[in-house]
Amino acid sequence: MHTKDLEKKRFQKRTEDFVCGKCGWETRGDGYTDHCPKCLWSRHVDINPGDRRSSCKGMMEPVGIRKKGEKYVILYRCLICGIKYRVKKAEEDDFEEIIMISKKNF
Ligand SMILES: [Zn+2]
Ligand SMILES: [Zn+2]
Repeated sequence: MHTKDLEKKRFQKRTEDFVCGKCGWETRGDGYTDHCPKCLWSRHVDINPGDRRSSCKGMMEPVGIRKKGEKYVILYRCLICGIKYRVKKAEEDDFEEIIMISKKNF
């Protein structure tokens, strides 16, 4: 009878805090941010964005930046399984770091 409610709960955003595996920065999770705002490294935790269902948990290196209109997209590659992933730049991301990463490509 309450299965519907349970289903709903399972798909709610999780707001866990995390410590960056690269630089040690502590990030307050808001359910959306899954990468470090300081060094921009991420973790391979999602299969689909936000689902946290990946068992890989490898560090994901920001390997490039793409600009889409006014928005920036960060390209990632997982160091363990090599999967590629793209994430929208978050408001609080360090812009200097974005510039640095974008230079890697050129
Ligand atoms: Zn970091
Ligand atoms: Zn991976």
